[in-house]
Amino acid sequence: MTLTIGTLRAEPGRKTRGVLPADLGTTTVEVPLILVNGARPGPRVVITGGVHGGEFIGVDATTRLAGLLEPEEIAGQVVICPVANPPAVYGGRLNISPLDGVNINRVFPGDRDGGPTDRMAAWLFEHLVDGADAYVDLHSGGIDQHLLDFVGYRRTGDTELDAKNKALAHAVGYERVIFGTSPEGGNSHAAANRQGIPAILVETGQLGDRHPDTVRRLLDALHRILHHLGVIEA
Ligand SMILES: [Zn+2]
Repeated sequence: MTLTIGTLRAEPGRKTRGVLPADLGTTTVEVPLILVNGARPGPRVVITGGVHGGEFIGVDATTRLAGLLEPEEIAGQVVICPVANPPAVYGGRLNISPLDGVNINRVFPGDRDGGPTDRMAAWLFEHLVDGADAYVDLHSGGIDQHLLDFVGYRRTGDTELDAKNKALAHAVGYERVIFGTSPEGGNSHAAANRQGIPAILVETGQLGDRHPDTVRRLLDALHRILHHLGVIEA
């Protein structure tokens, strides 16, 4: 099946790179995307990096993953967005957007008629997250933030969704797996859960780290996730 997001299209067995415009009201930004459409059918997996500025590991790991995935070898569709919140990432701001001072990971699924960050969140849900079979959001400790690697997921009360969240979280392979007891709040994975989409938060690295070894650690985790979901064989 053709994978279409906005004006970007990838036929089965093909990889497409490009940018799509997101109208944030006061400005329009370009969101980079890589669509990897497998030769065989399977789940649609959406991976975002750069939801926050100053968190480089997810940006680097998704970019490398996009280069490494071979569409003819995968089952399903992988949608990779290395820079999900361009104003914050390119503005070099920690946690908040320079446009309005809002932390996007508190306002998902956003509001298409709201302020710039609300619109950015709504754009990401409308174009990427809606229709996903699994959603993985990548974060890191910013330059002022000590952090041990961990995976976060939510319990929702939906037995089937909870089992998928938990399995996805443990497939990452990190020692620390933390769950919240409700799907409430504006975090990306919680908001995705409320739409019935299995989703996790993955935190890798700290203190603004962008060391290649840390990127490799996350890249390995992403491969384990894709293997767990049946997208790649090993
Ligand atoms: Zn973050």
